[in-house]
Amino acid sequence: AGATWLAYAVASALLALSMDVDLAMEAMLLGFFTFLLVAMVYMAGEVTALRAAFTRRRERLNDALARLSDLAMRDELTGLYNRRYIMEVLSQQKALADRGHVGFALCYCDLDNFKLVNDRFGHAGGDEVLKQFAEIAQSVVRTMDYVARLGGEEFILVLVGADHKEALNVASRLAQRCRDIVLGPDADSDGTMHFSVSTGIASYRVEERLEDVIQRADSALYRAKTGGRDQIVVGP
Ligand code: GH3
Ligand code: MG
Ligand code: MG
Repeated sequence: AGATWLAYAVASALLALSMDVDLAMEAMLLGFFTFLLVAMVYMAGEVTALRAAFTRRRERLNDALARLSDLAMRDELTGLYNRRYIMEVLSQQKALADRGHVGFALCYCDLDNFKLVNDRFGHAGGDEVLKQFAEIAQSVVRTMDYVARLGGEEFILVLVGADHKEALNVASRLAQRCRDIVLGPDADSDGTMHFSVSTGIASYRVEERLEDVIQRADSALYRAKTGGRDQIVVGP
């Protein structure tokens, strides 16, 4: 705008020097031109500020959306996927397996005697154990697998492309890592208190209903519980 104004002013001056012009008219035109330029510069500034404000608002909106979708798919306490999201994942995995792509295996986990953990360490202490379990579970699976909290002290691992043997491997590592953790001194004995997990394993059979594979994993878990807990049962 400055350069334009200068060019206009110089041109006007040259014109006034070389020709017989109405100086008052020229001065008035220059004034008007100056006013126009200033107004344009001001408006351009406003538009730039508006655009920046819109960009900031859009970024904040995107952040909020990302947080919202994260909230919708994650369990608040552990940060693992929630039941609703894992059911969506399972539907997708079922569709893939039914089309002849990769299958999957389930590890249905339930922490043993969790009431005792709560009794000994309080609800907050129990929550800490749930968080620890979530971390361990995530550390024993591969990046393409899914770990979800179904509710309470029940969890499910969706092992993509895994068979019984691989699922048993994952569940064994998970169980061992849990046994290794010392929760604190046991109030009723001289020893330390630990926690354990029981796991039922089932692999998806092409074209079966999701309820059926989950039910098979749950039945295997039930057998692990009735068999004495802290064990893994591979379902049919
Ligand atoms: P089992 O070996 O048969 O599974 O025994 P259990 O005591 O683990 O099983 P039960 O289903 O009888 O009790 C589950 C306990 O888990 C009871 C409940 O208070 C506790 N629980 C459920 N959700 C939470 C939670 O979010 N935080 C804590 N701290 N405890 C929870
Ligand atoms: Mg339970
Ligand atoms: Mg339990």
